Amino acid sequence: MQKRPSILVFAGHDPTGGAGIIADTETINDLGSQPCSIITALTVQNSHNLQAFEAVDTGLIKKQFASLVDDISFSAIKIGMIGSEQTLDVIIECLQQLPSVPVIVDPVLAAGGGTRISNSDFAEKIARELMPLTSICTPNVPEAQKLSGKTGLDDCARQLLSTGCENIIITGTHADGQDVINTLYTTAAPPVHLSCQRLDGVYHGSGCTFASALSHFVAAGYGIKDSFSRAQDYTLQSLLHADSPGKGQLFPCRNRMRWST
Ligand code: PLP
Repeated sequence: MQKRPSILVFAGHDPTGGAGIIADTETINDLGSQPCSIITALTVQNSHNLQAFEAVDTGLIKKQFASLVDDISFSAIKIGMIGSEQTLDVIIECLQQLPSVPVIVDPVLAAGGGTRISNSDFAEKIARELMPLTSICTPNVPEAQKLSGKTGLDDCARQLLSTGCENIIITGTHADGQDVINTLYTTAAPPVHLSCQRLDGVYHGSGCTFASALSHFVAAGYGIKDSFSRAQDYTLQSLLHADSPGKGQLFPCRNRMRWST
């Protein structure tokens, strides 16, 4: 019997399907791993912005995790929107039970339309308690600044690496410049910059797509640099083939069969 890598995703549910757990599971499935999902929060949103959210009961999250790990062996864990400090505490307890599984964190602090989904204390708690358990963190520029309390990107990365997080990839979509420059920082080597074309339009779920693709390549056994460039290529293609189901932001197409039609 064929066995594909299984990836455990903790993320919020975005009913539009553009971002959140639907984006994560679509990406992971399209790339060939098995997504298992634990929903941390339910949101109210459309393609313009997020209007409200509610955290899922943490007792339920604990039970879902216990049931899954009793049965399935995970090759990576991907974390997106967390939703509450109590949920973060539970996720940390879960990660401590699987210390050898790589953890990919997309530190979602605001929705694509700009609504904040965390307060600054929560960002500090993520930096202090989740970063030391993280293999790869993928903040955009505002998230990197909020998590580290620094301004310059090299300073942000140095601060986050000092927490114990092994790799930081700062994504450049929110920065200025003709191209988007994404940068991988590790303690072991100089930064690696990868640029790609800056596309017109605003996309909903591009960060979710990138971090989920990264979790797939890590789970499939690729090294960090290779995973980084493959995840970037996948994300760019998903944006080049984006759909426009609503009146607001565009949604990445995470279905490679549709890229050729
Ligand atoms: N997760 C959820 C549940 C969301 O609602 C959002 C944005 O609205 C995100 C993650 C982050 O989306 P993006 O990949 O556009 O940063």
